Amino acid sequence: MEIIDKRNSLPTHPSKRYRRRSLSAIKNIAIHHSATTSGSAESFARYHVNTLEWPGIAYHYVVDKDGTISLCHDLEVVSYHVGNSNYRAVGICMVGDFRTQQLTEAQKTATQNLVLSLLDVLTVDIDDVWGHQEFPGYEWKPCPSINMGNFRSELFARGDRGELPIYRSVSYSSGPRTRTYLSYGDQGDDIKALQERLEILGFKPGVIDGIFGKVTEDAVKRFQRAANLSVDGIVGPETRDALKRYDQDVPLIELASPTDVDTDDGGLYELESRRTLRLLSPYMRGEDIRDVQEKIGAVADGIFGPATAEAVRRYQRRKGLVSDGIVGPRTWQALDQNDTGGVPYSRLIFLTNPYIQGRDVKRVQRALNISEDGIFGPITDQAVRNFQRRERLNIDGIVGPNTWSRLFG
Ligand SMILES: [Zn+2]
Repeated sequence: MEIIDKRNSLPTHPSKRYRRRSLSAIKNIAIHHSATTSGSAESFARYHVNTLEWPGIAYHYVVDKDGTISLCHDLEVVSYHVGNSNYRAVGICMVGDFRTQQLTEAQKTATQNLVLSLLDVLTVDIDDVWGHQEFPGYEWKPCPSINMGNFRSELFARGDRGELPIYRSVSYSSGPRTRTYLSYGDQGDDIKALQERLEILGFKPGVIDGIFGKVTEDAVKRFQRAANLSVDGIVGPETRDALKRYDQDVPLIELASPTDVDTDDGGLYELESRRTLRLLSPYMRGEDIRDVQEKIGAVADGIFGPATAEAVRRYQRRKGLVSDGIVGPRTWQALDQNDTGGVPYSRLIFLTNPYIQGRDVKRVQRALNISEDGIFGPITDQAVRNFQRRERLNIDGIVGPNTWSRLFG
């Protein structure tokens, strides 16, 4: 019998962990159906972790309709599947809704094989193999919606025929390999899991559709900036690891919002997501390069050639940065500090209901040295008034052309 080992590949909660027990604490095997017409260990794990915020998937094993068995936890893990009986039970979930669907022969055989192999290593008898509904307090629950009496009779019959020892030989495979690098254009379950994780962390990756598009790429880049990783929009081992560990309680208001909330400017993703600029062959081109060139006093042709690289190096030396001629996160940060970061003056911003939001608000907040949430609320209003007072401007709390140019001039 072959079992796919998914113990290290399924989504888990970033901080919560299930308790553990000794094997001798196990007194029952609990049989479940998923109560969904389809599904997989991966999709159940995502639901249990992302939506229910459990430490991990509920079940120790998931048996697909075609009889494929996935191992999800060590037997010692006390996962959540039968309430008060969790501590004493191992959970096996058969994919399907057996209120309306039929248990397939392959699935039934695989589940029975699995149970027989477990009876061999646990101090549990066939009489201790219970449907979810047979556990105390769950009489109301239509799970697994198969006849457990028949299920046990068949197990007894197979045990009598001496089939038990066969299941001493269980082999494990690692299952489908997970891709090491995920990037723009990729599709699949792993992309969906990535999007769900970004969503949970507040990075708003767009529609959770399993497609690594522009919005997801932007979310990855914003995450990488927030996590102080190199910002390339590619999810490799470092980014994957950071995604796993990232503490979602850290306030990330600026980086968490999609960068297009305040404008219909189509080029904004490129601006805000901050690709790393450097001398490459062929030369990199773009508005962001033109923007940098203007700031560092190079010819603003939007092409990153040797002269631009040299100008970047000069700028970096002036700012006390490593002068490598590469515009990475540190250099971007320096370029941002005392200017609008490429955000043009475009409108009056002031305290109104609902609050005005946008990148221009963030830049104003940065210039005023207050918390940058991009929302023009009372605190921003007060800070603007204070600034206007200091600068002997008209004290109206409105950032119009005069206040704007004084802030950034
Ligand atoms: Zn159940």
